[in-house]
Amino acid sequence: MKIDKLQMNRRSLLKAAAAVGATSTLSLAGCSDNKAEFAMPALKGAIGKDGQRVQPWQNWSGNQFCEHNELLVPKNTDDVISMVKATKQHIRLVGSGHSFSGLVPTNESLMSLAYFNGLSNIDTQTKQFDVAANTVLAAAGEVLWQGGLSLRNMPDINTQTFAGAIATSTHGTGMNFGSMSDDVVELSLVNGLGEAITCSKNENEDLFNAARTNIGSLGVITNIRMQAQEKYFLKETTWMMSLEEGLANAEKLRDKHRNFEMYALPHADYILGIALDEVSENELLTQKTNNGDAYETFRTLSKVIDAVPFLRSFIVNTGARTVEKEERTGKNFEIFGNLRDIRFNEMEYSVPAEHGMACLKEILDTIKKQNIDVIFPMEVRYIKADNIWLSPFYQRDSCAISCHNFHDKDYKKYFAAIEPIFWKYNGRPHWGKTHTLTAKEQRARYPMFDEFLKVRQAMDPKAIFTNSHINTVLGLS
Ligand SMILES: Cc1cc2nc3c(=O)[nH]c(=O)nc-3n(C[C@H](O)[C@H](O)[C@H](O)COP(=O)(O)OP(=O)(O)OC[C@H]3O[C@@H](n4cnc5c(N)ncnc54)[C@H](O)[C@@H]3O)c2cc1C
Repeated sequence: MKIDKLQMNRRSLLKAAAAVGATSTLSLAGCSDNKAEFAMPALKGAIGKDGQRVQPWQNWSGNQFCEHNELLVPKNTDDVISMVKATKQHIRLVGSGHSFSGLVPTNESLMSLAYFNGLSNIDTQTKQFDVAANTVLAAAGEVLWQGGLSLRNMPDINTQTFAGAIATSTHGTGMNFGSMSDDVVELSLVNGLGEAITCSKNENEDLFNAARTNIGSLGVITNIRMQAQEKYFLKETTWMMSLEEGLANAEKLRDKHRNFEMYALPHADYILGIALDEVSENELLTQKTNNGDAYETFRTLSKVIDAVPFLRSFIVNTGARTVEKEERTGKNFEIFGNLRDIRFNEMEYSVPAEHGMACLKEILDTIKKQNIDVIFPMEVRYIKADNIWLSPFYQRDSCAISCHNFHDKDYKKYFAAIEPIFWKYNGRPHWGKTHTLTAKEQRARYPMFDEFLKVRQAMDPKAIFTNSHINTVLGLS
């Protein structure tokens, strides 16, 4: 969600919440988090080869963690090659740790490419650039801008690494844009035999088709060449619609705007529309908006609702009704990148674009009917089809629907109630987000699943780059 679209409404939403809280004579101080129940176990860290404890790892939301016995931090590609050749253990790669699924945890070796940073070879003719694998998306914006270029699209936040984002087909929204994996032109990796290989459409094409969404199972990505475009400014417009209007007009709005997405509010009769369009420099607004995490509003509302759950729908609807249309402008990367201070867990599936609204409606109806305890907005986005073997958007224009709940709330019950609805619409889960599918179901969703496994076997015959989650989702022993 864009920072200001709800943050700017925070005051009115909070006013509504506070009013309800006051009339029910319950104060926020009286509401408690159920933190203890969902707290991470206390981790000490495994004892490493040198007899010292290794700092344990956890992901952004805290739902994934591990006590690996070794942290590998190569300084260059030669180091990667010698570490891979020398290992007697499994290795899992970690980027920014922003995946909610079990892609990273291992009790053996964790490898970070923290030294692989920065952009190079920015080419204004081809509009392409090289990026070292562990560079975070946020680092690209201004550097590319100085070279006259920008990323074509961006996800909701900008703190993922390029290699991590590509590993899971991380995406933004916009019917004319694929995921970040679709903008990869060339990849360099070190495979499980310690060989450095480059792949592109013209060189090692099968590897290229597999490696652009690789879930860290083919080897160590060291460098990526990306397609960009000429730099551009964006105007963001945010407005609240009735749910009925949003469901009816979503596809028209999707086709009208450069980027369009919606935030559906559980238990409410409203939906927030967010549209981005290119503008020229002289159309920029002078007023600047402030930063913050829009989800904070929902955190506060959620605490009020914990105390008066029977007023959930009333509170959310009252808040939503006060939301006014807002506009902001800026360099594209200033508009795309959001701050996320409020931690949550997330499940996301992509369904065929034409079924998106039916699927969304069924989810919202189910939340109401089963009185599921959630008010966290659901994000609804559109993504163009691609030809990447394990991409959720493989040969299919898609509508991605994301369900969230606060990190210390029971997200599992909520997701378990919703996941079968995604299956009904032939949904494919985001590889980096919570889901319960195994290789059997994934194979049925991906026509090139077995081709991917063949490439994986060739790249990593000793199955170095695996953990129990990879074994489950790819069907490895
Ligand atoms: C707040 C938040 C917002 C998000 N918003 C979006 C969004 O808008 N759109 C979206 O699609 N997703 C979104 N995500 C999901 C996120 O983009 C993906 O899970 C992404 O893969 C995380 O990248 P990372 O750098 O944190 O990698 P990690 O989560 O650390 O790792 C992801 C995968 O990449 C592999 N990997 C990392 N580095 C390498 C390397 N050098 N070589 C080989 N493999 C490697 C890992 O082994 C793992 O399999 C969001 C997540 C959070 C927490």
